[in-house]
Amino acid sequence: MRILVIEDNRDLAANLVDYLEGRGHDMEFAADGLTGLHLATSAEPDVIVLDLGLPDVDGVELCRRLRASGNSAPIVMLTARGEIEDRVAGLEVGADDYLVKPVSLRELEARLRAQVRRARGELEGRRLQVADLVLDEQTMFVTRAGEPISLTRLDYELLRELMRASPGVVSRARLEAAVWGDSPPESDSLRTHIHRLRRAIDHPFDQPLLQTVHGVGYRLAPGR
Ligand code: CA
Repeated sequence: MRILVIEDNRDLAANLVDYLEGRGHDMEFAADGLTGLHLATSAEPDVIVLDLGLPDVDGVELCRRLRASGNSAPIVMLTARGEIEDRVAGLEVGADDYLVKPVSLRELEARLRAQVRRARGELEGRRLQVADLVLDEQTMFVTRAGEPISLTRLDYELLRELMRASPGVVSRARLEAAVWGDSPPESDSLRTHIHRLRRAIDHPFDQPLLQTVHGVGYRLAPGR
C-alpha cells in the first residue's frame, strides 16, 4: 500500500514510517497540514494516517478540505485520549476510522489494510445483474424489473453464487458449499431452496432465469 502519514510529532512519525516501511509499504510523510494536503493529491496514497492536532491546518479541517476537493482516499485519524469531540467531528467530515494514541503499530497496519480493502471493494461496484434481475452486494437489495424481491438470507446467498457465475452452470456441490460451508444439509435441502428462489425471482415474471441443468446443477441466465 502507498501510505501517507501526516503527523507533526517527529518521533511518532518516524516510528510509524519505519515500522510500515519495514512491512513493505510505500511511505510518504508530511509534518504539517499544508504539506499533507499537497501530498494527498500529488502522491496518490491508498490510505492516509492523519493526526488530529497539527500546527497549521488541524486534522478535521484537513479532512474537510480533502473531501471537498473530491479526494476519496480512506483516512484513519490518530487522536489523543480526550479528543472525543474532535474525533466525532473528524468522522462527520469524512474520516473513515480513528485510533487513540498511543497506537499499536500492528493494529494500525490492520486498520489501514481494512480501509484499503473496503475502498477497493466499493470501486468495484458490487452490483450484479442478469437480464433485469439486479443484486447489490453492499445493500443486499435484490430487484427484478425494478420490483424489490425479498429473500431469506440463505436464498440470497444461493442467488448471489448463481449471479456471480452467470451465465455459467454452478454445480450442486458448489452451491451447497457456498451456502452451508463444511456442514452440508440433509438430503435435498438445496432443491427446496432452489424451488423457493425460483418462486421469488421467476414466477411473477414472463421470462424464467433460473434453469436446471440436469445431473449437473443450476444456471441463471435468460432464454435457452
Ligand atoms: Ca500532533
